[in-house]
Amino acid sequence: MASITLEGITKTYSGDVRAVKGVDLQIEDGEFVVLVGPSGCGKSTLLRMVAGLETITDGTLKIGDRVVNKLEPAERDIAMVFQNYALYPHMTVYNNLAYGLKNRGFKKDDIEKRVRVAAQMLEIEAFLDRKPRKLSGGQRQRVAMGRALVRDPAAFLFDEPLSNLDAKLRVQMRVEIKQLQRRLKTTSLYVTHDQLEAMTLGDRLVVLNAGQIEQVGTPMEIYARP
Ligand code: ADP
Ligand code: ADP
Repeated sequence: MASITLEGITKTYSGDVRAVKGVDLQIEDGEFVVLVGPSGCGKSTLLRMVAGLETITDGTLKIGDRVVNKLEPAERDIAMVFQNYALYPHMTVYNNLAYGLKNRGFKKDDIEKRVRVAAQMLEIEAFLDRKPRKLSGGQRQRVAMGRALVRDPAAFLFDEPLSNLDAKLRVQMRVEIKQLQRRLKTTSLYVTHDQLEAMTLGDRLVVLNAGQIEQVGTPMEIYARP
């Protein structure tokens, strides 16, 4: 894992839409940072810039000591967990986990080992031969996380991963993500508009408003002020 550093990160969309305005933020190695704020404040744009899915208009992005502004998503060594799971419906769970590794030219033995380890950590070994449609929402979520985990990436990005789940499952998944985080110590940037989710999961919260950082602090510091 590695740290993520944002220095003056800015995004201006065409039509002079200033979505993110000079954000400075350091996410330490192994830290779980939650980016929280109302719809339209620029969370998704910021996350997508870190992922390399959106160009950075201005500023510097570093993974560890490496400036990655210009690198393609695949070169950044960052894994993204999406809201809609983005699993391949025609593939088994095993092949959903293995697919990205096969594409990157990993050896078969190594792939099998990585899939086993990730499946064990996420307790999805029993479903490896099933197709995603045979899984519950929570199980699909774990497969989506497993797909990121097998790569042993420098950092994890989460884009509102729980927002499609029902309330009960969302609570359960929050707990699972938290436990997983404690065990794996992944450097993570997690986007949500849900304050409860932010409080439960974040080591540190970053409150974004109109493209700028409004507050940074622990959940206690932000939500338990007298
Ligand atoms: P959030 O994730 O917090 O809801 P977004 O990052 O999606 O916020 O959006 C931030 C701002 O940028 C909004 O005003 C939105 O309308 C605008 N925006 C997002 N994507 C685009 C785009 N592709 N082109 C132009 N404007 C965009
Ligand atoms: P395809 O549909 O692409 O033919 P397969 O289901 O045959 O995919 O699996 C592709 C590779 O993944 C094979 O080499 C197979 O041995 C391996 N594989 C698939 N499922 C498992 C599993 N549950 N445990 C270990 N290896 C598996």
